[in-house]
Amino acid sequence: MKLSHRFAQLGPEFSTHTQIHPLKEQRLVEVNKDLAENLGIDIEDIEVQNILSGATHLTHSVSMNYAGHQFGGFTPQLGDGRGILLGEIKAPDGTLHDIHVKGAGVTPYSRRGDGRAVLRSCIREYLASEAMNGLGIATSRALALFDSCEAVYREQLESGALFIRTARTHIRFGHFEYFYAHKKYDELQQLINYTLETYFPKAVTSEQPIVEMLKDIVIRTAKMIAQWQSVGFQHGVMNTDNFSILGETIDYGPFGFMEDFDDHWVCNHSDHEGRYAFDRQPGIGLWNLNCLMRCFSRHLEREQLVDVLKHYEPTLQSHYDDLMCAKLGLSNKDQLEPLLSSLFQLLRKERLDYTIFFRLLSHLEQPVFDTILDKAADCEAMQQWLASYWAARSDGRDQTYVAETMRTHNPKYILRKYLAHEAIEAAKTGNYLPLQRLLTVLKQPFDEHSESEALAMQAPRWGRHLAVSCSS
Ligand code: AMP
Ligand code: MG
Ligand code: MG
Repeated sequence: MKLSHRFAQLGPEFSTHTQIHPLKEQRLVEVNKDLAENLGIDIEDIEVQNILSGATHLTHSVSMNYAGHQFGGFTPQLGDGRGILLGEIKAPDGTLHDIHVKGAGVTPYSRRGDGRAVLRSCIREYLASEAMNGLGIATSRALALFDSCEAVYREQLESGALFIRTARTHIRFGHFEYFYAHKKYDELQQLINYTLETYFPKAVTSEQPIVEMLKDIVIRTAKMIAQWQSVGFQHGVMNTDNFSILGETIDYGPFGFMEDFDDHWVCNHSDHEGRYAFDRQPGIGLWNLNCLMRCFSRHLEREQLVDVLKHYEPTLQSHYDDLMCAKLGLSNKDQLEPLLSSLFQLLRKERLDYTIFFRLLSHLEQPVFDTILDKAADCEAMQQWLASYWAARSDGRDQTYVAETMRTHNPKYILRKYLAHEAIEAAKTGNYLPLQRLLTVLKQPFDEHSESEALAMQAPRWGRHLAVSCSS
């Protein structure tokens, strides 16, 4: 594993050298072989494992320095309080990927935290990032997981773990906010140059490199959030320090995948005001981009920044519409809006499972609606919706083919909270089989996995009201 340390070399304002402080009786319990192979990492190599576990010390591993808007308020000093960037690797396809460790012990940015991560939240992040990747959504990835016998205190004693992830970058909106807020304009310029050269080479050769880069960031963010909305993903903590400049979903904490449809749903129990509620995510994305734009107010005119931001809404809307048309199997975008708003009304009233409902629709090859009507309390309203839906869908195309295509857009498997819970409970006893079984279906969520039908089911009663909070 040939690591470069480009970010680390930017200088002491950008990061501080830190090392992994291994946990008591740390054990490598899970590795992502597909990902390792794609990135050209020989994960079986003991030297690689020693780097990931912290047994081998790296001279240039660092914790990054950044700020961020958290729940609407600005925190001028954050940084990797429990994270370490080991370095970057170049994949065989030429792309650059960060190798990052979470839960590595205290860093200069830990503030009052212990620098640790618990097994529960590492497993949730592992599952979520692989699920998102399986759904085709840009995301950080899970490379490896170590468990341990070290006790970490949250609301109760839990076991500590070390989570190794990769991402195209760990540069966040908050990196720019840090230098702008502290009026460190030379470093801000250095960060802009580095970001441009490393991640936006096309923009560098354009007439207005910064404008082009920001436009790209706006578009990537809009597309990412359109995808979140289409699969029913809720991030939970959309602070600007959790937003990647490459539009990848990062920093999975109290996230959730929608089960019973509820567009006002708030998955994070610490989010008392519902700032990051499901239906507020598109607006918050724009709010976050606004924070980012402010950091460029010395480089660009206000009108230029506003013009860049104007790409957000239409990109998000048109991308979302495309995704929802594909989910419904519609060929004509004009038919989407009325069908979707009446459907959402119905799903909300009926509290139907979002994923299961769309998967049922994608098994319809002719207007025989019984399986869906069985699920509805108000059969008449549902029958009516299905009739107008069918009328919109049947436009002369072969409906077997339409249905087949729909099944490549409507997952059978999503990460249900109770499934994560079961995998975690088993892992706590040293049994990683449920985690592996779940990963298998989440990596290919559009396929049928006949041996794992149960993993596509709605939560049993006990699993319906599990709470997740910021504590991780
Ligand atoms: P998060 O909500 O996980 O994105 O974290 C927000 C900030 O708190 C980041 O700067 C984290 O590095 C830091 N942080 C979270 N948990 C801990 C911890 N256990 N110890 C130290 N810092 C932490
Ligand atoms: Mg974070
Ligand atoms: Mg975090």
